[in-house]
Amino acid sequence: MAENQEKNLKPRPPIVVVMGHVDHGKTSLLDYIRKTNITAREAGGITQTIGAYEIEVGNPPSPKATEGRRKITFIDTPGHEAFSKMRIRGAQAADLAILVVAADEGVKPQTKEALSQIQAAKLPFVVAINKIDKPNINLDKVKNELLTAGILLEGYGGSVSWQAISAKNGQGIGELLDLILLAAEMENLKYDPEVPAKGVVIEALRDSRRGIVVSAIVENGTLKLGEDITTSTASGKIKSLKNFLGKDVDFLEPSAPALILGFDSLPQIGEEFLTGEIVFNVMDMPLPVAKKSPAVKEENIDNIKVILKADNSGSLEALCDIIKALPSTKPVEILDQTVGRINESDFKLAVGAQALIIGFKTKLDPTADSLQKISPITIIASDIIYELVKKFEDYLDSFKKADAIGELEVLAIFGKSEKNLPAGRHGQQIVGGKISQGLIKNQQKFEVWRNERNLTKGRILNLQEQKKDVAEAVMGKQVGLLVEAGDIIKVGDKLKFYA
Ligand code: GDP
Repeated sequence: MAENQEKNLKPRPPIVVVMGHVDHGKTSLLDYIRKTNITAREAGGITQTIGAYEIEVGNPPSPKATEGRRKITFIDTPGHEAFSKMRIRGAQAADLAILVVAADEGVKPQTKEALSQIQAAKLPFVVAINKIDKPNINLDKVKNELLTAGILLEGYGGSVSWQAISAKNGQGIGELLDLILLAAEMENLKYDPEVPAKGVVIEALRDSRRGIVVSAIVENGTLKLGEDITTSTASGKIKSLKNFLGKDVDFLEPSAPALILGFDSLPQIGEEFLTGEIVFNVMDMPLPVAKKSPAVKEENIDNIKVILKADNSGSLEALCDIIKALPSTKPVEILDQTVGRINESDFKLAVGAQALIIGFKTKLDPTADSLQKISPITIIASDIIYELVKKFEDYLDSFKKADAIGELEVLAIFGKSEKNLPAGRHGQQIVGGKISQGLIKNQQKFEVWRNERNLTKGRILNLQEQKKDVAEAVMGKQVGLLVEAGDIIKVGDKLKFYA
């Protein structure tokens, strides 16, 4: 499979996110780059930012550069929000980050927060020391602070590239773009033009005139006008496709920003999209055999129920959006969301519903604090949103680990779907594969995973080993399966089986 795909792969431009402490010049830097690299004629089409833009750097940035003009996509979300969803999601959508540190202020709390987000997303990054046009700047002091924060700068014993810049007068910005292109070359970013398009939603809003307007960045495949498009919470058909300049196009390739009209409902910011025929969660039929281990209590829980608390309504809304957008193998249900400290009634609700309490920038009141010591309720609380999300993701992961008992790598598809199935039944396929983990059983339910993404659920209708029907098969065995999963399984997919 890898060999075939290797032939089709084409290079793609890097997707870059700008991070750093508030007022250190993220917006100014993005504005300067946009103004100086998109010609006035092209920019004439821009009536509003769509959350990302693309530039072409004119001259070969380095002797290594193979093409005369090189593109960069910048994620350009409003930088002034004290709390921004995209600060977390942007790090995940991007290939590279620029960490902006103002020379007059040096390393600040959000610089460190941004650094931990960059590190958690394993993003390569370059440091831009901004505002060097200001008087009385002490660059050495800033560099020392960066080193103390664990950023090992080039020329100071480390390998993190850095550039002194002014977003006001443009000094050093050309060099900064060269550093980005060099870093991108090292990453060897590729895409496959033949596969269904995949990407990430960066903005979504409901417009009274145009309906649902979605900005996204294409990450793989070719995004085409007229195709079906799906995220885990929304879907539709691409009725209008525009590039970031507002020009109508028939298709877009990675890493282009895209403006999409045609969603039937509002997708969440940060969600991944896929195009083509995708079936989500079609299999909700009760199963005759659903053996559950009594040892793991959580296995009996179908939904993960949460109660959200935050210090103010803005934080609460943002927390709610993030929790909804997190990918999870089990549906997450928000039971209640209120502003204020975690209190006795939150506890009562949590105990009654077996729910989890998530607190952002809030604490337990004295009663809740004593209840916490005697009740089995899980509380996840933090003042740092990144940390909160990480803890919740770890919590969700623990379910996955408890549940997953077998995994199969799909090596071949032998049969196509049966058409004209009765209502409520879904396409069947005959799938060949190798069990890469655990054990699988006939009639068992599974999830179809492609590129770390859960596409749909399915169920085994018949299990065969060496062409004989079997009740179960273990790791290392090659098996044939007749499955019901909406007819979307492809070679290379993973089927994950749950108890
Ligand atoms: P953000 O919060 O990180 O997006 O920061 P902004 O881009 O909004 O910048 C905050 C303030 O710093 C604004 O008043 C900018 O005009 C100013 N600023 C940004 N970059 C520079 C710079 O290179 N030099 C100077 N002197 N001021 C700058």
